Amino acid sequence: MSFQNPRAVGATLDPRIPVLVRRDGRVQLGWDPEHALVLALPPGVHTDQLLAVLRLLDGRNSRPHILWTAVGLGMAPTDVARLLSDLDRAGLIDVAGPPTVAATPAIRVHGRGPLSDAVSRALTDGGNRVMRSYRYSAESDVTRWNAACVVLSDDLVAEPRLVADLVRNGIPHLQVRLRDGRGVVGPLVLPGHTSCLRCADLLRAGYDDDWPHLSAQLLGAVGHASPAVIMATAAVALGQLEAVLSAPRSAPPSSLGATLEIDLAAHRLVTRHWPRQVSCSCTYLAPAAGDPGRLPS
Ligand SMILES: [Zn+2]
Repeated sequence: MSFQNPRAVGATLDPRIPVLVRRDGRVQLGWDPEHALVLALPPGVHTDQLLAVLRLLDGRNSRPHILWTAVGLGMAPTDVARLLSDLDRAGLIDVAGPPTVAATPAIRVHGRGPLSDAVSRALTDGGNRVMRSYRYSAESDVTRWNAACVVLSDDLVAEPRLVADLVRNGIPHLQVRLRDGRGVVGPLVLPGHTSCLRCADLLRAGYDDDWPHLSAQLLGAVGHASPAVIMATAAVALGQLEAVLSAPRSAPPSSLGATLEIDLAAHRLVTRHWPRQVSCSCTYLAPAAGDPGRLPS
């Protein structure tokens, strides 16, 4: 999921991105036609010199050392600063921060079924710390989970007390379910910043008077879908979690206050928005809103 190096002392250029040289000598990072970054050569700097500076971005060199060496290679300090700034803005470098005890945040996958298994496996393969659970008893306490994010997977209707506890304690959570053969990812709830699962319930009850009656019958049930839909749904969920866990650098996840509904038979991914409801308990349960780009760790 990430190219971060916990032992880095300086900036690390994403080693997965191909570094290419165009015929005019400019250096191109990546090969996507829309997102590749083309670096113009600063005045008086040759391609080999710029490539040598990029090679310094391996995490083992501090910023002063990079600056000192780049100046020795013929680059002006302002050009080096601009280069690092351009790479950072493009999300191509990881700038080392102070060491932390647990650099990788833990993700709790709560649920039992094919999606829980698929999402957990994918997160673990991506180098994440994953914890599993499927019961939320009277003794359970979300604050002891120490999770950066909770995935509520497989259960068609999440346990109301768990949902309220997640909102009350400001813990981001993403719902992932299978509904009548289709996948549904979201809403992603950032308590205090977005609508919550109960907001969505209130809205649906506004469209269908019987929804609370039907919803109560779905409590404890798990959905079904083909293996392909399960894999596609897990992939979309993983993409949303990557966006959350890399915040605030990447674009906001599209499942914030919305569901992404995957219909492989129709080759469609439909986004349905669930705005915040002023009558919902999340307006007073959620902790005071802070910076939405920051997640608890
Ligand atoms: Zn709400």
